[in-house]
Amino acid sequence: MSTFQSDTYIVSEVRPSPNYDERQGGQPVDIILLHYTGMQSGEAALDRLCAADSKVSAHYVVFEDGRIVQCVPEEKRAWHAGVSYWAGETDINSRSIGIEIINPGHEFGYSDFPLRQVAAVISLCKSILARRGPFPPDRVLAHSDVAPTRKQDPGEKFPWALLHESGVGHWVRPAPPDLEGQTLKPGEQGEVVRRLQQALKSYGYNIEESGTYDEATRAVVTAFQRHFRPEHVDGIADASTVLTLRALIESRPRLAA
Ligand SMILES: [Zn+2]
Repeated sequence: MSTFQSDTYIVSEVRPSPNYDERQGGQPVDIILLHYTGMQSGEAALDRLCAADSKVSAHYVVFEDGRIVQCVPEEKRAWHAGVSYWAGETDINSRSIGIEIINPGHEFGYSDFPLRQVAAVISLCKSILARRGPFPPDRVLAHSDVAPTRKQDPGEKFPWALLHESGVGHWVRPAPPDLEGQTLKPGEQGEVVRRLQQALKSYGYNIEESGTYDEATRAVVTAFQRHFRPEHVDGIADASTVLTLRALIESRPRLAA
């Protein structure tokens, strides 16, 4: 694998990965997908993303100290999303730029993201948006948003509010978790469940409007909470979750045509 010129000056090192191919479908690249590495050390994670037999990669890796390493040129299709879906699109790798954020993840003692690391992620996103954008703020997403039954990353500790405050991504202040009101739980059925599913689908999530609160619904609600109501993540659509979802949809940004 030969080296290449980094796409942005804030990259401190290029470490080429062979795990990419050509973008398909001719659609615009208008998603930024955020991950955590979920391994015990950052160097081990970077080694894996650059090892041919792993078949995984990302465009960028952001370390705890804010150091940014680029592994795949932005014009290429890095292999980070896997089987995934957002707003009708299933080839998320072709539409996105993937950023791996070093963190041990839920399996190895999930830790807070240091501010220096978050600041580096924000700078990197802003660089991508400045060079390639503008694209819709609601397309800065978590891996768990596009693969809710398989993935948890970057998880509920990731400070989406701080990104939004810095002009990256779509977010609304969540309704308080202890809000009184109707709660929908796994196993429940009916029109109100179907409306919840419809709302989640309209925002972009992959969910059937079946009217039954099944395991897949629970997974999507959990992913929604990790991103948008992180104070309490349990997969149960309480009043706060539903209200936050509604506020999110109502405030959805639209780019002028
Ligand atoms: Zn991931």
